[in-house]
Amino acid sequence: MIVLLSGCVPEHAKIMTYYDTRLSKIGLIPEPHDGVDFADRRGAPVLAVADGIVVHVRRIDETLYNTAFLGLIIWHPEHGLFSTYGHLLSTNLTKGMKVQRGQVIATNGTSGLRKNRIPGSMPAHVHLELRPQERDRICTKEKLVWACLGKSVDPLKYDGGCFDPDKDYPEDRFVLTYPVQC
Ligand SMILES: [Zn+2]
Repeated sequence: MIVLLSGCVPEHAKIMTYYDTRLSKIGLIPEPHDGVDFADRRGAPVLAVADGIVVHVRRIDETLYNTAFLGLIIWHPEHGLFSTYGHLLSTNLTKGMKVQRGQVIATNGTSGLRKNRIPGSMPAHVHLELRPQERDRICTKEKLVWACLGKSVDPLKYDGGCFDPDKDYPEDRFVLTYPVQC
């Protein structure tokens, strides 16, 4: 069971699918979900979950089964963590840019989702992952390799609720605010 630390209930945060939920994809073996899905309308702002640096804008071409994908990876070096954002519609950010918690980093979409889904069966959402930095790797923003990203952890373990610009967030530990407005 997930206990939220803030007063923001999941309904307000638009959480659609929790971490580790088994997703049954048609024709595929169900696999654990390695992030949390936050639903919002198409084109709605996607927010940075904490202060960080953009280390990768990920674009994957359309394939036979999936539509073209757009995602972002933001590094939180003080905390040894990466947050990743998937299924984006658009972003103006480029590698090396600094972002602040709550900053609009992209718009919400359905990129990368399977083509054969029933229309409307998978609404626009941000797939948010949190991955610790692998300890034995030297990772810099210029030389980020995929091997820097460790196995995903449940982002809601660091739950700081909805982003509130008037609130002071601790700096000595990692606190994650939701990637959607709520
Ligand atoms: Zn997801």
